[in-house]
Amino acid sequence: MEQVSPETENIDSISVTRLKGVGPRIAEHLKKIGIETIQDVLFYLPRKYEDRTRVIPIGAIRQGQSVVVEARINHAEIAFSRSGKRRRMLLCHVSDGTGSLLLRFFYFNSQQQNNLKSGEKIRCFGEVRYGPSGAEIVHPEYELLTADKEHVLEKSLTPVYSTTEGLHQMSLRKMTKNAIQYIDENEMLHEYLPAEYLQRYKLAPIADAIKFSHWPDSGVDVSVLQEARHPLQRRLIFEELLAHRLSMRLLRQSALNKTSVSLVSKGVLQDEFKAMLPFTLTQAQQSVYKTIASDLEQAYPMMRLVQGDVGSGKTVVAAMACLKAVEAGFQSVVMAPTEILATQHYQVFSEWFKCLGLNVVCLTGRLKLKEKREVLQQISDGVANVVVGTHALFQDDVVFHRLALIVVDEQHRFGVHQRLALKEKGSYKNNIPHQLIMTATPIPRSLAMTAYADLDYSVIDELPAGRSPVKTVVISESRRADVIDRVSVACAEGRQVYWVCTLIEESEALQCQAAEETLTDLTDALPGIAIGLIHGRMKPDEKEAVMAQFKKGELELLVATTVIEVGVDVPNASLMIIENAERLGLAQLHQLRGRVGRGEEQSHCLLMYKSISERAKSRLSIMRETNSGFEIARRDLDIRGPGEVLGTKQTGLMELKVADLIRDEMILDEVKLMAEEVLENYPEITRPLVRRWLGKNIKYGFVG
Ligand code: ADP
Ligand code: MG
Repeated sequence: MEQVSPETENIDSISVTRLKGVGPRIAEHLKKIGIETIQDVLFYLPRKYEDRTRVIPIGAIRQGQSVVVEARINHAEIAFSRSGKRRRMLLCHVSDGTGSLLLRFFYFNSQQQNNLKSGEKIRCFGEVRYGPSGAEIVHPEYELLTADKEHVLEKSLTPVYSTTEGLHQMSLRKMTKNAIQYIDENEMLHEYLPAEYLQRYKLAPIADAIKFSHWPDSGVDVSVLQEARHPLQRRLIFEELLAHRLSMRLLRQSALNKTSVSLVSKGVLQDEFKAMLPFTLTQAQQSVYKTIASDLEQAYPMMRLVQGDVGSGKTVVAAMACLKAVEAGFQSVVMAPTEILATQHYQVFSEWFKCLGLNVVCLTGRLKLKEKREVLQQISDGVANVVVGTHALFQDDVVFHRLALIVVDEQHRFGVHQRLALKEKGSYKNNIPHQLIMTATPIPRSLAMTAYADLDYSVIDELPAGRSPVKTVVISESRRADVIDRVSVACAEGRQVYWVCTLIEESEALQCQAAEETLTDLTDALPGIAIGLIHGRMKPDEKEAVMAQFKKGELELLVATTVIEVGVDVPNASLMIIENAERLGLAQLHQLRGRVGRGEEQSHCLLMYKSISERAKSRLSIMRETNSGFEIARRDLDIRGPGEVLGTKQTGLMELKVADLIRDEMILDEVKLMAEEVLENYPEITRPLVRRWLGKNIKYGFVG
């Protein structure tokens, strides 16, 4: 394809609504996941693939594989599940001469029941699992094979996209097909990379790579795609990493060209603060703070990432940094990813700073108009020394008086662009604020350096003394009654308990529903115990009230969804139950478990599972063996491989679509090199590349 100058009309400015079948309503849903243009559709890459192009003999199927099977129905029957609620099921036994397979339906109507008769030939598709009676597929898609109709197989592999509410798999598939057709007809997916690079690095044309990645040819092994080993995928990986690298280089460059206020102070406030704390800082806290303090004295912006395991005491370090800014006569901002965490930080900071005569305010979305106006006033006239808040801090009506420091807590929940937006708004006489970013995401150092190439990096590599590690037990759901007894005993001893409900689906609604049902069950099972509920669908002030009650000890048991995952600090809580623990990644379990083990008491964590494979069980047992986030990440890497652990969205470090920082580590050096060359020789392709991969809403540091 001919190289086109980025200035001409480009699919990055043609609205998705130009595609067949995309009306305003769908466009609205698409916008929520960052898709606004046809190019965005093309770069919304599949999460995985299914092979519906060929029939697999039952004798050759493997656990976990999604396959098309053709077989004859031996017999079908109604049965009842043995565990739990005795659900009615339709079991359909089929075989194809190479083996037999069980099809299990929990939802079915009488018509289906009638159709699935012995002797019929059936084609079905689904994920194979091995249950007690051998290979089975739960709820396969199926069709009866009849002579009167032609039953064709798919011509290419089938993409599976991440869906969200209002966006179905089928419509996404149709959309990418249409988008590809659109660029084919109009010849307009631009090749930004100069031909010399394509040759030197043996990279395929972008249009080929994109088309292939959505609808790979039949015959390509799904596992090759899953591991991104196909040369056409390599092209995308290369370009994606390049785009990220470029965006971060620009970010860093533009920051270093800026000035910041040099925050020089005697440290009077810090001394007072340290004297007031009921503990002394760990060595690690002190040394990280020292580095931060010297950054803050520079006249250019600090951009530092502080990594520290759950419970390592990052908040105190952040507080010290704020005090340095305040003593120099400036404001600081502490930004948290959730309302719960923002409220908690606000309480902690107010408590700490009250004695120092400082004024801390809180700005979240939950404020009533009048309160908000007051807070905004205090922020703009400088009465507020420290402002704690959520993304409400980004709103246009927030004007700072003299902002010099931004602390971003639990950065993995924020995008890079968010911290930038705040940076711009903080400009004080052309000085931009210093930035301190804190995260508990345990990733290896080399990786962190790449993921945060625009940042300096320190680690708090020590936990406060006297913490006894949380004792963790992996326990089957079938022992739920014992678990409930344990909760009852703990409450009787005056301890507080979290009961965490999880669901694998991204659907928050379902998760909240599960939590509500659990609340009802536990209320029946534990009469006389004060139980509260917290989930993402509650109003902010309801959440806040529940957290406050739990903190004060008025609630003994808190049933929660993963909304409590980050940062929540209630030292008296010393028992945590996590339901369906097998559904969560280890990093997430570690974050959750980090909510207990914060006080003097020996803490316990019970990981409850339903039915899981040996592999999943051994994965959970890692949680039993160690309390170190870094160790857990390392072991998880060994078991699941980098793709799954650190691959894309999970860490939220960089939202990578195809690349994987660990798997693709070998090409990082080439990418770095190419990025430098691009900046030097082809600066004009930088913006369009970054736009293509990182989206339109991101400010790449070009601005401000
Ligand atoms: P995280 O790093 O997970 O954000 P926090 O800052 O919430 O951890 O700290 C966890 C708990 O440890 C808090 O209750 C905090 O007051 C306490 N803490 C912090 N530093 C120390 C220390 N040096 N000694 C004892 N307790 C500490
Ligand atoms: Mg924290």
